[in-house]
Amino acid sequence: MLFDYHVHTPLCLHAVGEPREYVQAAIARGLSEIGFADHNPMPIQMDDWRMSMDDFPKYLQMIAEVRGEFPNFPIRLGMECDFIPGYENHIRSLAAQADFDYLIGSVHYILPGWDVDNPKKIELWKTHPHEEVWELYFKALTQAACSGIFDFLGHPDLVKKFGFLPKGDLSPYYQEALDAIADHKLAIELNTAGLRKDANEIYPSRAFLEGAFKRDIPILINSDAHDPSEVGQDFDAAFNLARSVGYSSLLRFEKRRPIFVGFSY
Ligand code: ZN
Ligand code: FE
Ligand code: FE
Ligand code: ZN
Repeated sequence: MLFDYHVHTPLCLHAVGEPREYVQAAIARGLSEIGFADHNPMPIQMDDWRMSMDDFPKYLQMIAEVRGEFPNFPIRLGMECDFIPGYENHIRSLAAQADFDYLIGSVHYILPGWDVDNPKKIELWKTHPHEEVWELYFKALTQAACSGIFDFLGHPDLVKKFGFLPKGDLSPYYQEALDAIADHKLAIELNTAGLRKDANEIYPSRAFLEGAFKRDIPILINSDAHDPSEVGQDFDAAFNLARSVGYSSLLRFEKRRPIFVGFSY
């Protein structure tokens, strides 16, 4: 019953492997579905880690082709969309150009020019207190939740990626975003990529997830694979975390319609 709705394609310029290989990996891991969610194009060149506007039709075509190759395995069409104030209508117009199964809302940019997970920008951490960076990140996540554009939020505490944490209890940073996610009836993903980073922890933290459970926020379990070998990686750890917090179901999507699936084991 596990599925992976957050995998990339080489169009974003920092992932390897053909879509076919991601699907084969999902089948080999015993997953029930896979969903592609590559980084959305932007109307201006903002960075070097997303598909270009010219490649957007190619992305849609790639997914259509791989669906044709595996007619009996459910392959969802998603997109990992950057939440950046001012680009809401751009995202909406991309979303209208195909029959998407879901849109992931991700905060990478906390300030213009600072994608907080980018190792090339790590120097910027030296000029900003960790507390300030965390506040900026969760303020943006709150705005993303309130935008009403997305079906679920990606890697909800990505700001911890490099292990730069404020001192003490982190829960106060989460509260406003959690309230907004619940108010806007959004879901969140448990993203196992955090285990492959310095944070060495699933996104989000247990404390964040406990806050989500208390507010009835639905969850998905995703890998954020940028390589076919990462599809479904560490899903047992994510599943155990979800269950230990109290969760008993996951959320699936078909054409942006949410469907709960109860844990079957
Ligand atoms: Zn990526
Ligand atoms: Fe991301
Ligand atoms: Fe991603
Ligand atoms: Zn992601």
